Amino acid sequence: MKRGVLLLSTVLALTSCKSEPVVTLDDLVVEEIVKEDNFIDEDSPAVKQAKHWQALTKYEPLTPENKFNPDGTEKAPFNLLEGDLEEHINRIYLITREDFYHDKNWTIAHAHSELGIICLPLNYEKSTVFHEAAHVRHAYLDETTNFSMEWREVARIRYGSLADITDYSVLWHDGTNVPKFGCLDAYNSTSIYEDVANFVGVLGYQETPEQIKGFLDYNANIKDFFIMYPFYFCDKNDRRYQEKIDLLYEYHFLNFDQYSTLTRNLGCLRELWVEDK
Ligand SMILES: [Zn+2]
Ligand SMILES: [Zn+2]
Repeated sequence: MKRGVLLLSTVLALTSCKSEPVVTLDDLVVEEIVKEDNFIDEDSPAVKQAKHWQALTKYEPLTPENKFNPDGTEKAPFNLLEGDLEEHINRIYLITREDFYHDKNWTIAHAHSELGIICLPLNYEKSTVFHEAAHVRHAYLDETTNFSMEWREVARIRYGSLADITDYSVLWHDGTNVPKFGCLDAYNSTSIYEDVANFVGVLGYQETPEQIKGFLDYNANIKDFFIMYPFYFCDKNDRRYQEKIDLLYEYHFLNFDQYSTLTRNLGCLRELWVEDK
């Protein structure tokens, strides 16, 4: 099914992100860093990051002051965000894939969280916008609250110990990528920041459970949707999923309507998948 294949390829991208270390534009004279003898290795993380910052200077970012069209509507992707989730976002860059200088093939976007900066590919998915916005809010909460401590108490895993990471994939040790351990996929288990961000990324899901059921009536493959929408296939008996959603609401990543929708949709298609196996 062509639609399934298309969606599959885009969703593989939306879990791909990392939070970059803090460097301010003002602190860098990028060309000098790249030329310095200390950075002989052109592929070193420092040189790649310097090149990324240098590339950003070509772009005019969206900012809280520069997010409106002439008709007063908000420019995308700012128009997706609201309230506390966008409060600490200072700049959004929409850039070509080459200008990221990412070192993993599965990485497609990132946040400079403490600076409130998000870098997105030109063909970004909605989920990626919510994911990166969550990184920025999480960084702010780390400065002001015990959110991360509370999340770790709910998550009850040792982040970074459960997945195998290569340049091309992130999988559980058993080679699968199904939702488990209270995580939506293996990538979520690599750090608390990715776990939080991918839950918030569910706000950008393109299809509702009802729409997916409709596709199944036309013989779509349930397993394609399982990969794309793991939130709908979680095991609700694992209380960590709902507890994480509760925390996201408590700390204003979600408004009430979003919280209600997520609570209703959590694991709602799981039975269909089990029957299909
Ligand atoms: Zn991320
Ligand atoms: Zn960036």
